[in-house]
Amino acid sequence: MVLNMPRRKTKHKTGLPRIKGIGIKVHDAWIGYVCIDCDKLNLFSIGSILLNPEETYLNAEWKCKKCGYLHSKISALPFKEWPSEYTDPDSIKCQRFWQAFFRIATENKEAYWKQCNACGRILPANAFSRHQGWGLLEKQMECRSCKGAINAYLNPRRTKQQLHEANLKRRVGDLLLEGENERIDINALFKRFNGKCFKTGVKLRKIERKSWAIDHILPSSCLYPLTTENAALLSKEANNNKRTKWPSHFYTNSELIRLARITGADLSLLSRKDPIVNPNINVNKCVTRYLKVRERSNLSKHIKELKKLLEDYGLVVSISAKNKKLLGYKK
Ligand SMILES: [Zn+2]
Ligand SMILES: [Zn+2]
Repeated sequence: MVLNMPRRKTKHKTGLPRIKGIGIKVHDAWIGYVCIDCDKLNLFSIGSILLNPEETYLNAEWKCKKCGYLHSKISALPFKEWPSEYTDPDSIKCQRFWQAFFRIATENKEAYWKQCNACGRILPANAFSRHQGWGLLEKQMECRSCKGAINAYLNPRRTKQQLHEANLKRRVGDLLLEGENERIDINALFKRFNGKCFKTGVKLRKIERKSWAIDHILPSSCLYPLTTENAALLSKEANNNKRTKWPSHFYTNSELIRLARITGADLSLLSRKDPIVNPNINVNKCVTRYLKVRERSNLSKHIKELKKLLEDYGLVVSISAKNKKLLGYKK
């Protein structure tokens, strides 16, 4: 039964505060209707059980908060221009009106209203995206407007497609760089960064391995290996936001300066506006190693991905005739 479904753990990772106080009951459904006498929008919560349209028609007495008009099958319709055979509650025409009136507000999940957990507004169901199997209305906690802002925070300027490509480049980059990466001395790393997340300042505990991550400052997707100079200590959450981003797209100017001081990295490179592929990497050596490597589950897919990266970065010219041939390039 839906009512007893376990609540999703609400991790605070949206960048927006959740509404505090008595708290918003994220599964509650609301009735929203416009008063037929004064046009005021009336909203009230009905908790977590949806109404049956026919029972609502038979029993409901919804009183307008502004003008006091009672929305009920016993009320006469207030439309001045209508003949009395339509407005008289004893008439079948008037009863059909009420039946449909209550049906509109209760007929299915989309008919209800819901309160947004971020902006606090009560909005019609279609202002929320679907969250299958979650709660009575199967809608997300935040309205689509707030969700838009949250997504921009979590994923600025990137579309799904761009993200997919970035992840693919990182995957290929990681494989190409195997053998170039240095072993990072974790104790020294914690010491350099005072045991704190460089981005958020949150204190990190070395033994809680899942709570922190080593940021590849200059990303492996641009073929920068992991070295002491290229490693920053971040909380897991900060690192999830950094992902494959170029340092100046994630760190502020003063953070970049501090970071260069701590790691000894090249500030002019870190602060570049646009990403640049590592000019010092020996691409041919990396490709040779990539092609030598043990059994890969899907060789043809890996080759295709590798070729895409080499072409996107204009690196085909940097590889040897032998490797070009292996990858199927005509001379
Ligand atoms: Zn009213
Ligand atoms: Zn909202």
